[in-house]
Amino acid sequence: MRIIECNLPHTGPYTRRSKTTAVVLHHAEASSATVWDINSWHLKNGWNGIGYHYYIRKDGSVYRGRPDWALGSHAKGANDYSIGVCCEGAYMTETMPAAQLAAVKELLRDIMRNWGKLRLLRHKDVYSTDCPGARFPWAEVQEYEKEDDKMDEKTMREIARDETLKVLAEQRHKSVDEFTGRIHTELQALAATGTLKGKGGSEAYKGIDMTEDMARVLTLAKDYTDKVFDSE
Ligand SMILES: [Zn+2]
Repeated sequence: MRIIECNLPHTGPYTRRSKTTAVVLHHAEASSATVWDINSWHLKNGWNGIGYHYYIRKDGSVYRGRPDWALGSHAKGANDYSIGVCCEGAYMTETMPAAQLAAVKELLRDIMRNWGKLRLLRHKDVYSTDCPGARFPWAEVQEYEKEDDKMDEKTMREIARDETLKVLAEQRHKSVDEFTGRIHTELQALAATGTLKGKGGSEAYKGIDMTEDMARVLTLAKDYTDKVFDSE
């Protein structure tokens, strides 16, 4: 996944963490905060800049904090074996947006790919704190291995296909040349192979009859629309 590199200012060199066996999840306890806000707060604590390794905003964008090999400063007692991930938001009261939840899960899959299987912990599992908040979607996050993003993409593709079919169905007795883009190209090809017969004759493409031709188009619709959306 795309990690936004920001070269955040910090006060000195990082120490390498000796072992990595867990990921610890946090919330920012702030409804709205940039990674630069967090960095300046942590500098004011006298720390070596941001204490987390990753920061995820509500829109699902992911920022790098400390390099993931560096000793973090995010969970007292657990820093020497864990990677710290913080989510923008105040999850004692707020509800995590879907884009952020999807990003948390994708980042966890990425981290586990790089580091092997790590224990997944909340800050409150290792320290006396409410972090990451009572409304943090812990059950969903623990299901991070399920790639639900791809299912969403499939659903979107199906909706797009239905929309295309609707447009085609409404375009009755039109010339192929009245369609545009890839659909135009595909319809031209369908007319050339005789799948679209229109009113018959050698220039069928000039007056395709979608009520008659629709059945033929439907038989090819899946492959055809997959091609359309793969190419865009
Ligand atoms: Zn925390």
